[in-house]
Amino acid sequence: MKNKIIPTILTIAGSDSSAGAGIQADLKTIHALGGYALTAITAITAQNRLGVHAVHAVDPTILSDQLNALLGDYQIDAIKIGMIPNSQLMHIVIAHLKQHPNIPVFIDTVMISSSGQTLMDRKALEIFITELLPLGTLITPNIPELNTLLEISQKNSILGTDTEIKALYPRLKRLNIKATLIKGGHSIDKLAIDYLLTDHARIKISSQRLNIQNTHGTGCTLSSAIALEYAKTACLLTAVSNAKAFLFQALQHAHTHQPTGKKAQNITLLKGGLNHLNRR
Ligand code: PLP
Repeated sequence: MKNKIIPTILTIAGSDSSAGAGIQADLKTIHALGGYALTAITAITAQNRLGVHAVHAVDPTILSDQLNALLGDYQIDAIKIGMIPNSQLMHIVIAHLKQHPNIPVFIDTVMISSSGQTLMDRKALEIFITELLPLGTLITPNIPELNTLLEISQKNSILGTDTEIKALYPRLKRLNIKATLIKGGHSIDKLAIDYLLTDHARIKISSQRLNIQNTHGTGCTLSSAIALEYAKTACLLTAVSNAKAFLFQALQHAHTHQPTGKKAQNITLLKGGLNHLNRR
């Protein structure tokens, strides 16, 4: 019997020891949705429910070796890019993407963790904007990340209103970005409204705003779900809609699948990860 063809996604990202974000979130997401995740690790972080305690970028040679090994052997249907901590590693990723221009690339614009830790240094950010983002099939910034990418000063910060978002398209085009999903999680609207901006469409995707605590790794989960759904459907809008539906479930049931804590911490300050496998 012939083997079933499984959508195969390469995720290039950082490891999160608390397993809520980064490579661990990508693995859970891609496997939960029926794909196979190959992983190239860019950094090892020490994290728990209190935040990020340490970040170690990997040696450039081992990132290059991982990418050569994976891209040299597997038929990869899509690439998801998460945390790339420094410019040396950024150049390596860019060089590999350029050698494989036909693989769709989904870029989660990870720069700072929600607990405030820098996950990409300043020099890398410049290369990220000018050289990496134009290679993406889709980038998925939240509102604060969008302000950083477009170098919008704090006093003129975009809050995520309809009129603001519509005016942004030419600025994203000037950066040679092909398609952008602006995530509305941080916006001031009562609903969670995302905008998908492409050459052909400006689509508003609304969903109910969930007021929950366990949101660690939301961005990683959404971008890897989009990569996988795009590998299945080859349609950006379908991929985004399916991924959002998956994320909604994983967030809604996050509280039912959390690791047991040791100390009686102030529980309201602790942010756990999602329930990717929807276990209750
Ligand atoms: N740690 C790693 C390794 C990540 O890749 C990311 C996000 O992509 C984060 C932490 C940040 O996750 P959050 O902002 O949900 O804390």
